[in-house]
Amino acid sequence: MNEIIIGIDLGTTNSEVSIIENGKVTVIGDGDNKMLPSFVGLNDDGHIIVGETARNQYLVYPERTIKSIKRIMGQDIQVTLADLPYSPQEISAIILKRLKAIAEDYLGLAVSKAVITVPAYFSDAQRQATREAGEIAGLEVMRMINEPTAAALAYDTQGEEARRILVYDLGGGTFDVSVVNIESSVVEVLSSHGDNQLGGDDFDQQIIDYLVEHIKNTHEVDIREHSRAMARISRAAESAKFVLSEQPYVQIDEEYLLEHDGAPIHLSLELSRMVYEELIEDYINATLDAVHIALKGAKMSSSDIDEVILVGGSTRTPCIRERLLNEFGIEPHSEVDADLCVAMGAAIQGAMIAGQQVDTVLVDVTPYTYGTSAMGFLDGLEYPFLFVPIIHKNSVLPNRKTEAFTTYHDGQEAVDITIYQGEDPDALNNIKIGEFRVEGLRDVPAGNIITLTLGLDLNGILQVSAQEKETGLEKNITIKNALSQFESGALETAKQRINSLFGQIEPGIIEQEFIVEPLAPEIIAAQKLISKAEALFDKVSSEDKEDMVDLIEVLTHYIETKDIAELEKPTAELNDIIYYLES
Ligand code: AMP
Repeated sequence: MNEIIIGIDLGTTNSEVSIIENGKVTVIGDGDNKMLPSFVGLNDDGHIIVGETARNQYLVYPERTIKSIKRIMGQDIQVTLADLPYSPQEISAIILKRLKAIAEDYLGLAVSKAVITVPAYFSDAQRQATREAGEIAGLEVMRMINEPTAAALAYDTQGEEARRILVYDLGGGTFDVSVVNIESSVVEVLSSHGDNQLGGDDFDQQIIDYLVEHIKNTHEVDIREHSRAMARISRAAESAKFVLSEQPYVQIDEEYLLEHDGAPIHLSLELSRMVYEELIEDYINATLDAVHIALKGAKMSSSDIDEVILVGGSTRTPCIRERLLNEFGIEPHSEVDADLCVAMGAAIQGAMIAGQQVDTVLVDVTPYTYGTSAMGFLDGLEYPFLFVPIIHKNSVLPNRKTEAFTTYHDGQEAVDITIYQGEDPDALNNIKIGEFRVEGLRDVPAGNIITLTLGLDLNGILQVSAQEKETGLEKNITIKNALSQFESGALETAKQRINSLFGQIEPGIIEQEFIVEPLAPEIIAAQKLISKAEALFDKVSSEDKEDMVDLIEVLTHYIETKDIAELEKPTAELNDIIYYLES
């Protein structure tokens, strides 16, 4: 057997090691954790500690712990650990040695060869230092490959066709964006740009500042002077950030943070995703600027890009996906774990060098987007059926996401929720797969928050639940065949049609609430016209409004009875009025 070549992602925040086993890529964990925090320290007894223990220690004993050594790789400076100087290569070697040991433990044999990834922007000196770190750790570095190259390899080991891929990599402390060309597993980096001082740590810092400010305002204490309390706040901030990647709100509770004037200080605060997104907006804008610079470097525009790949833990932040979707008009890929895909690509490269066969690493994803409709703006006009995606196409299954909505009218006591499958910004052009009503809401002004949770499992079962945030009042539905809803819906309709020809419709075959009947274009046109007319109500005379209301009533009736032929006349009349009002 050829000697195994391990793949290593030597990251600023976390590092990982991966191998190919029976053609499959495996990221090897240190215990349950597949990511080894890139922290090195000396403990109370003077022993070297690496990974999670060192990371925990950093919060309390930063003077005995080193983080982010990657930032100074290739520079002629030394770091001090318990009064002794070390080169960046030596500290990196300690991390590499730990990764090597993790692989050896798992495999039960000695390992001496590795492929290590480096950022595309790394200079010769930085690459040389990385190679030396490998040697110090007892690893022959068979090849160093660029991180975006590794990510592209993890996504495509077999494709023959040439594709241009934008790799957006936002980790804990660095951001890189690269345009790569991939063809027959040969990956070429066409351009690269980034900021090695921007990442998820900055997002944490924004939340930390927000919490510190809150404590200052409510308790008149500057918690920054209390390092142990700050350590807890840092942890709480990162945990809150994780929750906000899945949910629109997070409750942050930290009891007995410290004592002030003899009284304990507790932190209890709700943070919304909306506020969080405002806190990090400048950073996201900066990454988008870098994306444009990278595109320019490759002499391309957004429309030349065939695929967008998300790499790095921070790309789980939902607004990043949204911004990239808007920019490129294509759903970014995240089906290979964003934290692990660079290490996987390194192992794939290692296997290629060793002449091993590798299977594709792709996992189960949803081929459709699922969401609901809400009042919003479409083509600059207020529109009641704006599609709001909740679970995006290409998301890994199983998947569960929550979004918040608000009631539109004062005293609104019910909301009707419709679930759609599709990609069109106009919900009515997507496939309706379920609807339900939540009643008995509190009698409060408009703005009552309703959270909507969608959970899609591997079998295509979609669990939908809506909840009034303040009271917990909840309603659920299950859509049994969401992944093939269109096909099964069409199938059932055909079955019903054939059965009716024979005069023997079997009752109960169809779950009426969730059946999908593709709507006739005339009905869709009439529905759109009605919303357009309603949007004009504020601007028209009462006489015109009365005519419009009458026509809307007639149209609504024929939409309900699905009397397509009868729709033509009132549709034309309402169209004329709108045309006249708009001209
Ligand atoms: P990496 O350097 O790729 O390992 O990414 C680490 C960064 O990703 C850290 O800043 C983490 O806090 C961040 N991160 C990991 N998971 C999530 C998540 N679910 N939502 C937001 N940020 C995350």
